[in-house]
Amino acid sequence: MLSDNIKQELVAIVGERFYRDDQEALITHSYDGTPMQQALPDGVIYPNSTDEVAKIMRVLSQHEVPVITRGSGTNLCGGTVPTEGGVVMVMHRMNKLLEIDEENLTATFQPGLNTQKFIEQVEAVDLFYPPDPSSMAISTLGGNIAACSGGLRGLKYGTTKDYVIGLEAVLASGEVLRTGGKLMKDVAGYDLTKLLVGSEGTLAIVTEATVKLIPQPEYKKTMLAIFADLYDAARTVSKIIEHKIIPATLEFLDNATIRVVEDFKQIGLPVEAEAVLLIEQDGEQSVVDKEMQQIERICQEEHADHVQVAKNREEAEQLLTARRSAFTALARLRPTTILEDATVPRSKIADMVLKTNEIARKYDVQICTFGHAGDGNLHPTAMTDARDQDEVKRVEAAFEEIFAAAIELGGTITGEHGVGIVKAPYLEWKVGASGIEVMKGIKKAFDPNHILNPGIMFAKEAKKRVVIQK
Ligand SMILES: Cc1cc2nc3c(=O)[nH]c(=O)nc-3n(C[C@H](O)[C@H](O)[C@H](O)COP(=O)(O)OP(=O)(O)OC[C@H]3O[C@@H](n4cnc5c(N)ncnc54)[C@H](O)[C@@H]3O)c2cc1C
Repeated sequence: MLSDNIKQELVAIVGERFYRDDQEALITHSYDGTPMQQALPDGVIYPNSTDEVAKIMRVLSQHEVPVITRGSGTNLCGGTVPTEGGVVMVMHRMNKLLEIDEENLTATFQPGLNTQKFIEQVEAVDLFYPPDPSSMAISTLGGNIAACSGGLRGLKYGTTKDYVIGLEAVLASGEVLRTGGKLMKDVAGYDLTKLLVGSEGTLAIVTEATVKLIPQPEYKKTMLAIFADLYDAARTVSKIIEHKIIPATLEFLDNATIRVVEDFKQIGLPVEAEAVLLIEQDGEQSVVDKEMQQIERICQEEHADHVQVAKNREEAEQLLTARRSAFTALARLRPTTILEDATVPRSKIADMVLKTNEIARKYDVQICTFGHAGDGNLHPTAMTDARDQDEVKRVEAAFEEIFAAAIELGGTITGEHGVGIVKAPYLEWKVGASGIEVMKGIKKAFDPNHILNPGIMFAKEAKKRVVIQK
């Protein structure tokens, strides 16, 4: 519980309406997109400006009250669960698109702006902002920046970190930090912009951002390649890249995922296929046509059963939407869905999918896999029931082995969802003890009293690395 004094100081900054500690507000901000993670905050605050965020931080810092910054709460790693209580700071009121600068090809916005709305506004002036997390209809740009989100277009265009060039952020102390700007070149000191992108709200609160935009590609073509063998699909991914073609999208769905997505969307996906690849290329029409013909030939050489090119943009959008709804479709199967994002070098995709299936069988749990094949970012997804403690324990053990297998194959524990609470115990597997120490040093420099998103990123206890039997 916050003392009446602290509460009054906060109310004085944002007004009665925008500080809440009624049960409804506390419960609805006690969880996010992550299953089985919940903790009540002491209060919820909705600032409307950088100045308000700075004033709030001065109060919370003085009293050493934890603060958990929240966009739309769609993260899948417990990144906004207030495990140590404190105040959840919701950024939704700070949702303005401040500028699209067509001369410098940049956009500047507040962090609470919805990702999809922003992409649409940018496309309306014939420009392009590629990072497209599947949650973009709900997520905020601030959440995307703090989580360094990626999406279907990540292979060719990169992820959020490749576009953010300037930030305004409020430090734990309440001071306002400005990094970068509209500059394409800037090597003045450490790259604090890049450091804050992906820092999961542990270093500062982003209150404004400038991103670079690129011209809209003039033309797009989308195809679906259907495979009876998983290895053929995986080899096709490597072969496409080996031929020096970088598709805008190169997505993979395994058989179990194809079945549930088809059941959900009914767009004619081949439910008997072992795997499908969803491939999109964009750019100048003659180049796209030539590369898509090459890709079609590679698919056929690698024994695709069938290659289907979308007849028009509507059909292409249907395929992309079907892929984006894979998580939602899987979530219909059982009460609890746990979606992970173990990532491997793309040459190891088939090994990783087969290893995942083997681990699922070993623990007798249901796991489907889909993901961004082009960048090796897979989403093994477990359908379970949080009420069945025995099954949940088996799911957790299976994921532990899946993370270990990803590391063994030269990969990582998370490609885009972040560490949060749920992967904090595994972070050391990826970055080593010295990596953890350096990161803790950075955290201390930004947030000496450890009030920003405490409990995430750094686990109280690291997990012992599982040894995978070869
Ligand atoms: C159906 C579904 C599909 C998804 N698909 C993808 C995908 O394709 N790619 C992908 O990368 N992720 C995906 N995600 C995960 C998630 O949507 C992204 O991480 C997204 O960027 C989170 O945005 P948000 O606004 O909901 O942020 P939140 O969940 O509210 O917050 C995410 C993190 O950012 C911090 N944060 C939020 N705002 C700020 C701020 N202004 N300053 C500092 N820190 C802040 C929070 O404290 C937290 O640590 C998916 C999730 C779902 C549910």
